[in-house]
Amino acid sequence: MYWESYSHAKMKEIIFGALEQNLDYREKPVLGLPASYLDPEVFYDDAPFLKDAPYLSTLIANPNHIGCHTLTASEAAFRGTHKIEKELIDLCAKEIFEGGEDEFDGYVASGGTEANIQGMWILKNYFINELSAKPEEIALVYSEDAHYSMPKGASLLSLKKVVTKVEEETRRVTKESTIEAINEAKIQGAKYFIVVANMSTTMFGSVDDINEITGWLDELAIEYRVHVDGAYGGYIYPFVTDNADYTFKNPKVFSFSLDGHKMLQSPYGTGIYLVRKGYMHHALTEEANYVKGKDYTLIGSRSGANAIAVWMIMRTYGSEGWVNKIKGLLKKTDRLCDSLDERGIEYFRNPKMNIVTIKGKYIPESLAEKYLLVPESHDGVANWYKIVVMDHVTQGLIDKFLMELDAK
Ligand SMILES: *Cc1c(COP(=O)(O)O)cnc(C)c1O
Repeated sequence: MYWESYSHAKMKEIIFGALEQNLDYREKPVLGLPASYLDPEVFYDDAPFLKDAPYLSTLIANPNHIGCHTLTASEAAFRGTHKIEKELIDLCAKEIFEGGEDEFDGYVASGGTEANIQGMWILKNYFINELSAKPEEIALVYSEDAHYSMPKGASLLSLKKVVTKVEEETRRVTKESTIEAINEAKIQGAKYFIVVANMSTTMFGSVDDINEITGWLDELAIEYRVHVDGAYGGYIYPFVTDNADYTFKNPKVFSFSLDGHKMLQSPYGTGIYLVRKGYMHHALTEEANYVKGKDYTLIGSRSGANAIAVWMIMRTYGSEGWVNKIKGLLKKTDRLCDSLDERGIEYFRNPKMNIVTIKGKYIPESLAEKYLLVPESHDGVANWYKIVVMDHVTQGLIDKFLMELDAK
């Protein structure tokens, strides 16, 4: 994994250069587009600081990134910033997920939810178009710890839900529940399975053992394809592990979702969807005639500033800087775990993740409320509360929490 870190001056040059290649509504005779720069009464573009602020300048120029820029020629009006989005998708596919040159498509989605639903949508249509599946024969397999975008997507796409169980202590998906749930779905007519692997769950930071799970599915001899939900762990786990299970080197993996607006601290609206080449067309909306290059995404119009934000963060750190940042967060998480061990407090933690999920019985409700610890469920008694060791979680804050915990 390697990408270079750029200076602010270099990023400015690239982004302002891209904005120059984009259409400028002030310069060109634009009569046909139902779009413009941001409202100039509110977002005036002659504020002096803007010349040093490439992200805000992009926000104000308001380029539309509708469509999928790794796949087809898109609207020429915004080709400058489209190119930066394409570079961002390449960086993620090649450097984070070890993909080869030009083997992937993808786009900046509104979030992990959309990227997951896009993944399900593409695989559903792939089963229908390529394997002559009937819609009612397609099921979505995910664990009870998976993100709620799975049942949301299953509802939207009318997929049968196949929910596997996890062990309470290890959060590991169980073989029995997987086999049982799939056999049950088969009885109800399911023949094609979209399988979601969690490259970290939201609540526990647990990472599904993808080889173990695909091994069970192979034994069952069912037709399945795997989408990886890396919305939470995508900017953490691959940076501190070298096994290839959660990369495009694993032939079982078809697509990934990633979220810039979690660990990367980019603005909301920065999910990323990545898929092997040759599948994106299953989400083509043929009727998107007014869009040059048509549309292959769930969202439609979207701000180009989002891609710029993610690209800038990745380019500011470079791969080495990002690895160091994640290692620092993991160290801080290790120290928190040591402190919990000293106190005999039970918790779940994946050592490659920055989430510590503590058994509810150790945490008084008042403390959970004060420190905004997130319970695994907001209805009834919380069995678990999680701490997410982010940038703003300083050692001092952790110490203060532990002191108050000791005093209870
Ligand atoms: C946050 C998250 C999502 C969805 O993300 P949004 O960006 O809120 O749409 C999906 N999966 C996991 C594991 C997440 O942590």
